[in-house]
Amino acid sequence: MLVSTKEMIIKAKEGKYAVGQFNINNLEWTKAVLLTAQENNSPVILGVSEGAGKYMGSYVAVVGMVNGLLKGLKITVPVALHLDHGGYEGSFDAIEAGFSSIMFDGSHYAIDENIEKTKEVIKVAAAKGISVEAEVGAIGGEEDGVIGGGEVADPAECKRIADLGVDMLAAGIGNIHGVYPANWTGLKFDVLAEIEKTVGSMPLVLHGGTGIPSDMIKKAISLGVAKINVNTECQLSFAAATRKYIEDGKDLQGKGFDPRKLLAPGFEAIKATVKEKIELFGSVNKA
Ligand SMILES: [Zn+2]
Repeated sequence: MLVSTKEMIIKAKEGKYAVGQFNINNLEWTKAVLLTAQENNSPVILGVSEGAGKYMGSYVAVVGMVNGLLKGLKITVPVALHLDHGGYEGSFDAIEAGFSSIMFDGSHYAIDENIEKTKEVIKVAAAKGISVEAEVGAIGGEEDGVIGGGEVADPAECKRIADLGVDMLAAGIGNIHGVYPANWTGLKFDVLAEIEKTVGSMPLVLHGGTGIPSDMIKKAISLGVAKINVNTECQLSFAAATRKYIEDGKDLQGKGFDPRKLLAPGFEAIKATVKEKIELFGSVNKA
């Protein structure tokens, strides 16, 4: 059964580790993430962007697939199904469909409008026991066509949003979606420390987990980050493994064209990436 992220990230913040959010795109992706979490006895968050939700045939279809896999694969670790960067309408649609956690991304609104809309989402979500993540300071890079300027969040604005009753807060600290450019200057730990001081026990979320060096990840966790989003890294490892299979001509040998064979190396590559991240984030055996 799906659970909200509330309990798992409070435990993570207290225990100084982070729960990984891995974005899913299809059945193979979802199965790979769930099985790896189960094998490592780790809580896990399945992230679904609005675009990925449409791709998989609607939020209702995603909920059906995930619930079916939880049951069919006998997954017993805590699993949350989380809308990633939801718009205002999309947030209510995902709640209605059965998601157990919502990120309402109002970071592109002026702060007062972000606050008003976040309040509305919390009201509806809280009544159903659904956790809510809010965002302050747009995160750089591109997420489904929304391009952020790589802003750095204002700790005072973080405090205003945190006080609304959100369960976790994403704050821009120089992190970027996608692959980091060569001239990236790193995470702004002074800002993160300032935010953590102002918001107290509120678990913080680090977006754009792909390619952030391990020492920076560990430092971010020590400063209150309890949820880390990983998306691009699984896509890169899936694509590389699939490319190798085809370049080696394996799809032309015997029944190598069978999708269950063709997609197997990519599936294994996602599993390896998820395992590596779960170990780095410290959530092994924290289910
Ligand atoms: Zn993000």
